[in-house]
Amino acid sequence: MPDTTFPVFTPFPQQRERLKLGLVGGGIGSFIGEIHATGARLSDRWELVAGAMSSDPERSLASGRAWRLAEDRIYTNHEAMAEAEAARPDGIDAVVIATPNHTHVPIARSFMRRGIHVICDKPLCNSLAEADGLADLQRQTGVIFAVSYCYASHAMARQIREMIAAGELGRICQVHVEYFQDWALALEEAGGSAKPWRLDPAHGGQSFTTADIGTHACHLASFATGLKLEALSASFHTVGSPKPMEDTAFIQLRFEGDVPGTLMTSQAAAGTHCDLRIRIFGEKALLEWRQEQPEILWFAKPGAPKIMLTRGDQGCGEAVHRLKRLRAGFPEGLNDAWSNLYTEIAVAIDARKRGEPDRPDLVAFPDLEDGLAGVRFVEAAVRSNAAGGEWTAV
Ligand code: NAD
Repeated sequence: MPDTTFPVFTPFPQQRERLKLGLVGGGIGSFIGEIHATGARLSDRWELVAGAMSSDPERSLASGRAWRLAEDRIYTNHEAMAEAEAARPDGIDAVVIATPNHTHVPIARSFMRRGIHVICDKPLCNSLAEADGLADLQRQTGVIFAVSYCYASHAMARQIREMIAAGELGRICQVHVEYFQDWALALEEAGGSAKPWRLDPAHGGQSFTTADIGTHACHLASFATGLKLEALSASFHTVGSPKPMEDTAFIQLRFEGDVPGTLMTSQAAAGTHCDLRIRIFGEKALLEWRQEQPEILWFAKPGAPKIMLTRGDQGCGEAVHRLKRLRAGFPEGLNDAWSNLYTEIAVAIDARKRGEPDRPDLVAFPDLEDGLAGVRFVEAAVRSNAAGGEWTAV
């Protein structure tokens, strides 16, 4: 068990002024853009000032006006936005890319080339070649590149990481992650046809569920344990209404140090919503966490009662104290995790703007390397499944 005294911790540095944020995608009728914007606002470190919010110019204009953006900062395409914002003395510091997967790379490249930092949604993109190209461009431009694997920004996900790093579990023996949803069980009934790009390989990529939510589970497993995924054996299934790609995948994992694990994911698992769960068994104890009850972390040793750790003042480490904005007993949730993500990205960009050193001791947001790891995971899973579940290097 961790120390039960209140830890000494370094707070995030204060920011002199809010950073300026632009949004590509996220217009009226879309899903994740609004969640990004809410997280940014809650962090109080960002001001949303510009947007090219839809692939449809009329909808872009209507969305920008609905979000009360200034008329001259509502754009009808990302290229015009990147050019105009880079030319303004008060131009955006970072752009959020909340568009379908196949558009992430060209949009990211436009902003990176102009020295604008990027916050890109997951999966990073649909192919390793494109992902490597982004990594090259990042080396040339030096921009900060975050990827929004948001669940790792829950305070108690950070607690898992701290407890493992502190040796609370001893050697990690096995890791199990799962992510179940049910919205693709009967797509035609669930309004799934409103998101057709996810099921079109030209837009969503070669995988549906493994790319869409399996990547979250894969990221969380490595983030929490600190272990890199080295190989996998995947079996894809379509158990819901007919669709061109898998809605379910069972994947055996092998992490560095030969640590075994499993990843199960489905978007056709009746009765589930956003059931992301991780169990990590060490030689000394278990840690177990579910994102639908993000304030609770279970800790258990063999032969002893399970202990429920709650996000609170005592028993939680430095990361929790730095991130929490409500006292114990006032529940925090997914918006807080997004806000944590935006706080840490702001800390990094603000330090860069002021010419101060990076703060890896304070921030742990997912970056381009995490985005690349997600693309490698999907590619390996697709190849393994096609080869009858053959073990495949990641
Ligand atoms: P969506 O279909 O609901 O919305 C996409 C929006 O992007 C639409 O408004 C569309 O008009 C716009 N768009 C498309 N091309 C554009 C372009 N070139 N320029 C400007 N706008 C453009 O999709 P969504 O569910 O919001 O998903 C968007 C991205 O976010 C995907 O990559 C998805 O995987 C990811 N996502 C991440 C999470 C998470 O938890 N981090 C959750 C959901 C979705």
